[in-house]
Amino acid sequence: MDWSAFHREQLIRKLSSESFDLLVIGGGITGAGIALDATLRGLKVALIEKDDFAYGTSSRSTKLIHGGLRYLKQMEFGLVKEVGSERAILHTLAPHLVIPEKMLLPLKEGRGFGSLLTSFGLKLYDWLAGVQGEDQRKMLTRNQTLKQEPILNPEGIKGAGLYAEYRTDDARLTLEIIKTAVKHGACAVSYVQAEKFGYDQGKVSSVIINDRITKQKLATQAQIIVNGWIPFAKPMVPARERNFI
Ligand SMILES: Cc1cc2nc3c(=O)[nH]c(=O)nc-3n(C[C@H](O)[C@H](O)[C@H](O)COP(=O)(O)OP(=O)(O)OC[C@H]3O[C@@H](n4cnc5c(N)ncnc54)[C@H](O)[C@@H]3O)c2cc1C
Repeated sequence: MDWSAFHREQLIRKLSSESFDLLVIGGGITGAGIALDATLRGLKVALIEKDDFAYGTSSRSTKLIHGGLRYLKQMEFGLVKEVGSERAILHTLAPHLVIPEKMLLPLKEGRGFGSLLTSFGLKLYDWLAGVQGEDQRKMLTRNQTLKQEPILNPEGIKGAGLYAEYRTDDARLTLEIIKTAVKHGACAVSYVQAEKFGYDQGKVSSVIINDRITKQKLATQAQIIVNGWIPFAKPMVPARERNFI
């Protein structure tokens, strides 16, 4: 069956008639990633999203897959390496969605860390984050800097560090991940809201879902239910429920 709005009715029927190993609530990047990972591990997965996929913060980010340069200042080398390695994996897997974007870090007289330390810091950043080839940092002279960025106020400029961050289309990336999960067997449906939990001997065993298109209320059974969004208000279920992550 194609993953298309034409088959939505069948997908909804599947949600209510079959039992899943895992039900993921929330079709943002977190829910999408969990669904894909679990599906590739052989679990039978359902993913529901109350609006359109990536409707939440996953379509409202700064669109940067940053490598955590600011953590370098805090000496968080392990974190920079982890964030950078994840970014490098994404860049390899989806080069059309994780695109290098050059950043200019101007060096000003009497400001910042100075050219030697900035040069070393950016080099270390590239090394930790696994930045390769053309994307690696370059140190620019004053003239090169002003040529690169003509609208920069030239007063006190000594040079700059030119380094790569990576840009993405966050909503598209989320959707691509969901599509891949679906390709491997996940059942993902949008405009379906989790409303209430059903319990079996004190354990969460199902979720009452609201199909926001047809206004139908149904139950979805799953062994494990993962909350793929952060409940800022009142949580729907106490944290002590063991099969609710
Ligand atoms: C201004 C801004 C800039 C950012 N910049 C960056 C950046 O540069 N780089 C970066 O990596 N990160 C950035 N972030 C952070 C990043 O966007 C978030 O960490 C990420 O989008 C969180 O994804 P999520 O899937 O956890 O949440 P969301 O994308 O919010 O997904 C949660 C989903 O759950 C759905 N949902 C909620 N309740 C229910 C329910 N009852 N039933 C069904 N579905 C439900 C929501 O509709 C939503 O779609 C930024 C965030 C903001 C706000």
